[in-house]
Amino acid sequence: MSKFIIAKFGGTSVADFDAMSRCADIILADDNIRVVVVSASSGVTNLLVDITKTTDVSSRHDAFAGIERITLNVLNRLQQPQAVAEPIELLLAELRAMIENGGAVYSSAHKDLIQSFGERLSSVLFAQVLVERGAASLCFDIRRVMRTDSRFGKAEPQLAMIAELAQVHLTPLLADYRVVTQGFIGADDFEQTTTLGRGGSDYSAALLAEAIQAATVQIWTDVVGIFTTDPRLTSDARCIREISFDEAAEMATFGAKVLHPATLLPAMRQNIAVFVGSSREPAAGGTWIAKTVQERPPYRAIALRKSQTLITVKSPAMLHAAGFLTRVFDTLSRHQISVDLVTTSEISVALTLDEGGMTSAFSNSVEPALDELKTFCEVTVEQGLSLVAVIGNHLHSSKGVAGALFHALERINMRLICHGASKHNLCFLIQDQDGPAVVKQLHQSLFSS
Ligand code: ASP
Ligand code: MG
Repeated sequence: MSKFIIAKFGGTSVADFDAMSRCADIILADDNIRVVVVSASSGVTNLLVDITKTTDVSSRHDAFAGIERITLNVLNRLQQPQAVAEPIELLLAELRAMIENGGAVYSSAHKDLIQSFGERLSSVLFAQVLVERGAASLCFDIRRVMRTDSRFGKAEPQLAMIAELAQVHLTPLLADYRVVTQGFIGADDFEQTTTLGRGGSDYSAALLAEAIQAATVQIWTDVVGIFTTDPRLTSDARCIREISFDEAAEMATFGAKVLHPATLLPAMRQNIAVFVGSSREPAAGGTWIAKTVQERPPYRAIALRKSQTLITVKSPAMLHAAGFLTRVFDTLSRHQISVDLVTTSEISVALTLDEGGMTSAFSNSVEPALDELKTFCEVTVEQGLSLVAVIGNHLHSSKGVAGALFHALERINMRLICHGASKHNLCFLIQDQDGPAVVKQLHQSLFSS
């Protein structure tokens, strides 16, 4: 393991010149921060996505104008804008050309290329901010290292290749420079630009940490760490100082929006601690996510995920029969449907799907599978549900867990509960409209005593 620290700054942290300057303070305060991964400035990726979605050329130009404005606002605040005016102008010209010559619809390769401009612009600007603050700093094109497959929009990193390329191209720079680079983007074997999926910059930072064997990864964002629940749901929510990988992974899976869900995988593989803090208030501390933590309390956090679909399949033939479950799951798997929770009774199976997390419309991805299921069982579909996950440790064997839960749900219609399969979570489904009140009540009974 090296002594190097990777610091990632999210879109709001690099939203404008003043925000970037606060990030520079954080970096300059620690000589070991050698790799700086940036997101696109806040709003830019959304505008780029707008460009790829609309077929209307004038809307594309409007979105471009928004990106140009955000970029030039930073550029014009630099002491020496001329130092980076040329690379910035080239990037903007390349993007403009893609708009003008793009045709009616973009290919998926072109969509990823277009979405890459946000990080490519912000990284050039941010490296110059560091230079002007006296740091030896340069902007590095991460596509030289971040090798992925060619699944545009959600490319899979090729770990061995990334480690090898980082060794050759990136590590040698770290002795002398603070290397500023792009999150979110990569390139496939044919040098085509790819993206890791929305919010992927966290994942990029963790992948690079794994590749260079960094000591820690810092994720700087606009919240002072990970909270016991979404602070918008209850003012009782408080910042968690320390949390284990297992618990944090559960939180990410169940919808706490602090980290991209895949972020912890590289960190867990290499046992690299991850820090989450606010670039606005670095002194406020933050959350450390690590393998070993001082305490493993039964309750750590409550996550709420909306837009869940509950599917119940029922077959009288299941009574005393073997193979029904295999058939149900085989059907779902052939249609590439990922199931979250499962409960069974003698003749029926209930399972949940995360509609909010689906990349294509429900009607395209799930309905064909349901049609097939209907050929051998009765199928009921309920939408508009929320999944509440209580996350913690040894929940499967802790006293009082169910009591607190049922108390909080006294007046609520609970649709399904999963308890016992995992020691780190206990999940249940309720109607979407009950979600906020249930979380508030449950948070109070679990955390305020
Ligand atoms: N800029 C990308 C997005 O907005 C990646 C990121 O911010 O992590 O999704
Ligand atoms: Mg972001």
